[in-house]
Amino acid sequence: MSTRALVDERILSSPYHSLIPRTNMNSFYKSENVGLTGLIIRLQREDIGEVARDDEALSFALELQLQELSIVETDIADHHFAIKWLGQLDCDYKLALALSNLHHEADAALLTCTGCDSRFTRHQSFKAPCDRHFFCFECLANFFEYTIGDESLYPPKCCDTEISLDNVKKMLDDKLVARYEKKKIEYDTEPTKRTYCHGLKCNTFIPESSIENDVATCSDCGKRTCTICKEKSHRGDCPKDEDTQSLLDMAEKEGWQRCYNTKCHRVVVLTIGCNHITCRCGAQFCYICGARWKTCLCPHMNEAYLLAGNDRPRHAEHRLFQPPQD
Ligand SMILES: [Zn+2]
Ligand SMILES: [Zn+2]
Ligand SMILES: [Zn+2]
Ligand SMILES: [Zn+2]
Ligand SMILES: [Zn+2]
Ligand SMILES: [Zn+2]
Repeated sequence: MSTRALVDERILSSPYHSLIPRTNMNSFYKSENVGLTGLIIRLQREDIGEVARDDEALSFALELQLQELSIVETDIADHHFAIKWLGQLDCDYKLALALSNLHHEADAALLTCTGCDSRFTRHQSFKAPCDRHFFCFECLANFFEYTIGDESLYPPKCCDTEISLDNVKKMLDDKLVARYEKKKIEYDTEPTKRTYCHGLKCNTFIPESSIENDVATCSDCGKRTCTICKEKSHRGDCPKDEDTQSLLDMAEKEGWQRCYNTKCHRVVVLTIGCNHITCRCGAQFCYICGARWKTCLCPHMNEAYLLAGNDRPRHAEHRLFQPPQD
């Protein structure tokens, strides 16, 4: 019996032979049912393994059969691998092409950010009031952030047209908007009229709304700063207040008086004889010595000056009221 005949006989006598619908093994192996082919190969191998090896010719035939099975198995595996990856590659290629087309279409509708040169959709960018430039939200935020740190950039502009906060508020972070609004009040205050907290580690700008009677109260640390000398708030007149100082010099020389009320300290000029002054703030005092009314011994009337008008001279006992100082 030839080896081939031995092999065929062996296969046909296999108890698993019924599993193979056709005797043409090759065509079966070429089918793409990997699972079933694998099972048959495994069963045949087990079957061959169980055969006694005492017949040399049969043993050799079975050895060949085993080798053949291995070759077929490798063949099938390669074939399926190729089919699988070719299919996958084709799929990937089509997907890549579709994405690329989509990308090109989308890119044509994109705008370039003037700040970073990246491309964004209309909804991802802000059109500057100059009508020529666009900014992505990140660059827009940076623009406002830089302005907070550098007054020379204020107000933020594009092509000399101001970018108003109201137009970009909804595109910016709430915290940034709040910080910018605070800074805006500072920038909008004339530099010479600004007061910063005198606290060494604070130096916070104090807005007009926190200033009363030349005293600025810091909302950050609570310290009080004199808006005239910019030092720690003090009682009495500010030595740096030149206008007040020259008015007081004049009052001293001319014999005018000053209201004792801490919240007033107004300078009053009397043109007729009565020394009883009722200030606009309601305080009553003596025109000669500045004391509260009826707490001094100065004369009530000064007959000689009753009709003196604007020429009333300084009283010999005149003492200008001095507010307590520290
Ligand atoms: Zn940008
Ligand atoms: Zn512009
Ligand atoms: Zn402060
Ligand atoms: Zn001062
Ligand atoms: Zn007064
Ligand atoms: Zn008096």
